[in-house]
Amino acid sequence: MRFKSTLITAALSAALLLTAGLTCAQSARAAAPDWLENAVEAEYPNTVKMRHYLHQHPELGNQEVQTQAYIADFLRAQGIKVIEGTKHAPTAVIGILNEGRGHAIGLRADIDALPIAEHTGLPYASTATGTIFGKETAVSHMCGHDAHMAMLLSAAKIMAAHRDEIDRTVIFVFQPAEEGDSIDDPYALEEQKLAGAAALVADGLLEDYQIEKMYGIHVMARQPAGKILIAKGAALNSVDAFLIKVQGEQAHGAMPWTGVDAVLTASALVLNLQQLVSRNIDLTRGMGVVTVGRLQAGETSNVMAGSAELEGTIRANDKQIRDTLLKRIPEVAVHTAQAYGAKALPRIIEIYPVTYNDPAEAQKLAAALQDLGLDAEISDWNPGASEDFSFYAEKVPGVFMFLGVDAPGAEQAANNHSDKFVIADEALKSGVAAHIGAALSL
Ligand SMILES: [Zn+2]
Ligand SMILES: [Zn+2]
Repeated sequence: MRFKSTLITAALSAALLLTAGLTCAQSARAAAPDWLENAVEAEYPNTVKMRHYLHQHPELGNQEVQTQAYIADFLRAQGIKVIEGTKHAPTAVIGILNEGRGHAIGLRADIDALPIAEHTGLPYASTATGTIFGKETAVSHMCGHDAHMAMLLSAAKIMAAHRDEIDRTVIFVFQPAEEGDSIDDPYALEEQKLAGAAALVADGLLEDYQIEKMYGIHVMARQPAGKILIAKGAALNSVDAFLIKVQGEQAHGAMPWTGVDAVLTASALVLNLQQLVSRNIDLTRGMGVVTVGRLQAGETSNVMAGSAELEGTIRANDKQIRDTLLKRIPEVAVHTAQAYGAKALPRIIEIYPVTYNDPAEAQKLAAALQDLGLDAEISDWNPGASEDFSFYAEKVPGVFMFLGVDAPGAEQAANNHSDKFVIADEALKSGVAAHIGAALSL
């Protein structure tokens, strides 16, 4: 490897530690390879071109057919081995560089778009349409996965050109359906489909390529373009959903003793669910949220409702808290209903676990990226969203980075998933360099 030499003799190192107060970890770091900055800069026009093209051609989860072909063709043109599709993730693309060189790491970019219309007014704004659960919809990359693809493609190209200087196997994971499957409505299915990342994990991605560590980047509004934030520990919350059907017995509103009131039961249920966070979870570990977002019952004022439905969302930033909530919600539902003489049929839809960064790897990566001259720092910023990168990080140490994309001077920029979410292209350079930095960091 052609790193600039940073070897320091033990005696000098000790002296430096004493005088400058450096830590051992800092003094032992390797500097950036001399080609990196120029390579990222030279590739930049193409990175932007690719992002804008992908932006104009968005596709929904598990329907990313054109996107898959685009990625596969580009990787093959760089001399990278390509696998298209796995059993549960047919639109995935896996790129393999330096096969068999051991110590494989995975770099992940998600490739799917959202079923919303874009209103950014950009010259390359999406006008695409697609189908979600069989219905036509506008489609756009309002979560920035176009940037994720362009950054990882450019990083792959640069790494392929310098493959002899990368002392490990690098697996490029272009993952579908991070925003969920767009073919089947999860509530209409008996059995849940696997999310994009969960599908790849189930199909043996980590074992087949002996991936020891996973890295991913998400572009984020409300942070300056190019800034990289890395959490030590929980980076994003878990997300799950619940649906509870309450069965009572309809009766005349004037004669409630002749039936079982589903409205009263559902009301008690809403209140009882709220004590889970305040009384059942270990609040020293982190936070949890239970929100009933939909409550429907009844037909008219003088008829006591015989059935009700509650739907809600569950969030946590700690695995134990999530597990407690997922276990307790059905228990509270069933027993509250029983206390009112009704019956509850709870259903939990498990979505994504907590996205947890390995603290030691997070620290190491932040230091490595700083050495590349990137504006990277350890941060406890949790944007509150959720990600299926969590499925990789449950199996192997993982680090999920946030990359700011706000143009200079942008204030209160539209968030990811807004129809006005905009990415300042200059941020892409940091993302390309961060992928390469992760592959180079030991
Ligand atoms: Zn998203
Ligand atoms: Zn996203």
